[in-house]
Amino acid sequence: MKRRIDLLITPRWVVPVEPAGITLENHAVAVDAGLILAVLPLDEARLRYEAGTTVELPQHVLIPGLVNLHAHAAMNLMRGIADDLPLMRWLREAIWPAESRHVSAAFVRDGTLLAAAEMLGGGITTCNDMYFYPDAAAEAFAAAGMRAVVGLTVLEFPTPWASDADDYLRKGLAVRDAWRGHPGISFSLAPHAPYTVSDATFQRVRALADELDLPIHTHVHETASEIRDAIAEHGTRPLARLARLGVLGENLIAVHAVHLDDTDIELLAHHGCSVAHCPTSNMKLGSGIAPATRLLSAGIRVGLGSDGAASNNRIDLFQEMRHAALLAKASTLDASALPAHTALHMATLGGARALGLDGSIGSISPGKFADLCAVDLGGPFSQPCFDPVSHLVYVAGREHVTHVWVNGESRVAKGVPLLQINDKELLRITSLWHTRLAN
Ligand SMILES: [Zn+2]
Repeated sequence: MKRRIDLLITPRWVVPVEPAGITLENHAVAVDAGLILAVLPLDEARLRYEAGTTVELPQHVLIPGLVNLHAHAAMNLMRGIADDLPLMRWLREAIWPAESRHVSAAFVRDGTLLAAAEMLGGGITTCNDMYFYPDAAAEAFAAAGMRAVVGLTVLEFPTPWASDADDYLRKGLAVRDAWRGHPGISFSLAPHAPYTVSDATFQRVRALADELDLPIHTHVHETASEIRDAIAEHGTRPLARLARLGVLGENLIAVHAVHLDDTDIELLAHHGCSVAHCPTSNMKLGSGIAPATRLLSAGIRVGLGSDGAASNNRIDLFQEMRHAALLAKASTLDASALPAHTALHMATLGGARALGLDGSIGSISPGKFADLCAVDLGGPFSQPCFDPVSHLVYVAGREHVTHVWVNGESRVAKGVPLLQINDKELLRITSLWHTRLAN
C-alpha cells in the first residue's frame, strides 16, 4: 500500500549538496509535513508514495534553498542611493544621514518585505539580517514566509531605533523575548563593527551570547583603513582585539574578513569562527578581495552574503556564487580555485553551518525542512548543459528560479511569486519611499 504524502518533486537533476559533489538524475524528492522525507529513484518513489501534489520539472535542477549569510534587508529602499564611494565616505556622507532621517518601524517593515520578495523570488529561503527595528523586520520576514535570523544591532551612537549600547541591547532582547518559539524566526546579537562598538559592549555581547545561546554577527576587517585606524586607536588589529576581549568563538560570524594576515586566519580557525563572504559588496565599495580559498583550506566555515541593496545593488546569491568563484581564480591565478560545487556549498550548507542551522536546513537531506529551489536550465541560453552545477554558478541568475518552497510550502511556482504582497503593492511601497528619500 502506498504512503500518502504532501508533495513529490520530480526534477531533471537533484543536487543535494550533502553528500558533497554529487548530482542525481532520475530521482525524486518526497516531502511531507514540511520536511524532506526521502531522496530516491523516481521509479521507487512512484511505487512507494501517493502524493497530494506532484510537481514535474523536466528541465530543472533542484537545490537546497539558498542561505544569505549577510544582509541588511530594509536597505532595499536605498538601492542606488549612493554609488561609487569607498566604505567610510559612503557610510558618513550618504547612508548614516539618510538612516537618521528616514529609518522607522514602517521603513524597516516595508524595506524588509521588498527584500524578502526579491530573495524568495531568487531562491533564497533563509536570511541572516542586520538592521534596526528588529520587531518590524521579524514581522516582515514572517509575513513573507521566509526563514530569518534577525540581528539585534548594537552601536554606541544613537539612531532612530535606540540611543546607546544599553538601549540597543535592552530593546533588542525584548523583541527576542516577544518572538520566542516562532518556528521561522530566530535572532543573533549584531554588534555593528569593531570601529563602532566599545570593548565593554563587545564583552557584554559575548556574555549574553553565551547565556542565551545566540550567534554573534559582526562586520570585521572590511577595509585596509579599518585596520590602520584600529592599530592607531587600540594598538592592535581588530580580530586580535576581539580575541583579547573573548569575543571570538564558534558562534561568531565574521562578515567580510577581506584584509587578513596569517595570524588573523589562524585566530578565526583556532576559535572556530565562520566567515560571511560578500564578494560583490567588497568589489563595489572598493574594499578588496577576501581570501576565500585560504579560509576554506584553514577549515573555516564560509557562507555567502549579499550585504545590503545599497552596496550591491542586486540581491542575488547566484551572482555571489559567480563572483566568489571568479574572484578566487583571478586573485590566486589558479583556475581550479573555488570550483562550482564549492560555491554552491557556500551558498547553502556553508551558510547553514555558520548559523548553527545545518541540522535543519542547507542540504536536501531526509529530516531537514523542505526549503527548496528549482532552477530552469532548459532555455536556449542555458543549453547545452553538460553539468547543471557549472550552469548554476557560471550561467544562471535569480531570473532562472521557477519554484521555491519554504517548509514544504510553495512561495514561488512556475516563476510566479505566491506572497501575500504582489508586485503592484511592492511598487507602491518603493514609490512612496523614493519620494521621501529624494526630498
Ligand atoms: Zn553589511
